[in-house]
Amino acid sequence: MPAGFVYDPIYLHHNTGQHVENAMRLETIISHLEQTKLKQQLVPIKPRPATVEELSLVHHEPHISHVQGVAQRGGGWLDADTVMSPGSYDAALYAAGGVIKATEAVMNGEVTSAFALVRPPGHHATSQRAMGFCLFNNVAVAAKYALAKYKLDHILIIDFDVHHGNGTHEIFYDNPQVLYISIHQYPFYPGTGGIEETGTGKAKGTTINIPLPSGCGDNEYLSVFEQIVVPAAKRFNPQFILISAGYDPHWADELALMQVSVSGFAQMVKIIQELADKLCHSRLVFSLEGGYNLNALAASVKATFDVLMDNPNIDDPLGQPPHRFATPSINHLIKAVKEIHALS
Ligand SMILES: [Zn+2]
Repeated sequence: MPAGFVYDPIYLHHNTGQHVENAMRLETIISHLEQTKLKQQLVPIKPRPATVEELSLVHHEPHISHVQGVAQRGGGWLDADTVMSPGSYDAALYAAGGVIKATEAVMNGEVTSAFALVRPPGHHATSQRAMGFCLFNNVAVAAKYALAKYKLDHILIIDFDVHHGNGTHEIFYDNPQVLYISIHQYPFYPGTGGIEETGTGKAKGTTINIPLPSGCGDNEYLSVFEQIVVPAAKRFNPQFILISAGYDPHWADELALMQVSVSGFAQMVKIIQELADKLCHSRLVFSLEGGYNLNALAASVKATFDVLMDNPNIDDPLGQPPHRFATPSINHLIKAVKEIHALS
């Protein structure tokens, strides 16, 4: 079965001007998918706005009305990093609704997997506030929606954006139905995501933070996937997998200091796809988070689709990193995470 994608020009109406998280990110991805003739092989999924009721599965009402109010007043800055334009509220509703629609398409069997190409991104948005370019937590809303609508009780969220998804972490910290695994540069923005933060109460152990030192590349990320993500996912046995797909660990991305290549992302996606095949009838939804080098972002998203569609050839036009930094050893970190989470 084919892969689906969510996109709508409404996502360009979140006008952030010269901000690094801007509309050119999605424009570049879409034109790359068109030029490479991949887009025509994908099933388009039309997004809809999330309802306030759906957002309220995750967000406190004052946060939702605050975001709406700022848009109505012409936009403005919500924090030092996060800016809104008049169109941002509607774009954000469609971003959350887009991941919901991708989830529905996968759960209803219309497609095997789907990728929601949305903005604003979501994983820094907490239950109560916008943060780090994010207004509403798109993946968290879709996860809560899927738990309720399809009466699921085990959803896995893997977040490979280079930043810790503090919002998703907070939202599910006491929820044993969602296993949240974040792989991120640490210490780094937003400062959270330490190894010892593992969940609370009945949800103890259902948050797995993998705080990597800067300089990690394909080998380190793949070790983390093979030694932590795969055994943790198998133990949790999810019914559905959501991915916070941020491509800012790419070596050419200037927001962070990692050294992952497009080929490395493709290998990670392959591992994720095999998990979905094995554990949950291939039900898999990606949602776009970060990724700020436009060429690296577009190539990485295309490579993700190529893996999802079982295309044998992965294009990596940017190639391997110039190795600006020494590659750190992370064996001790992997060992420590495995010990904390009793993973053999
Ligand atoms: Zn990021």
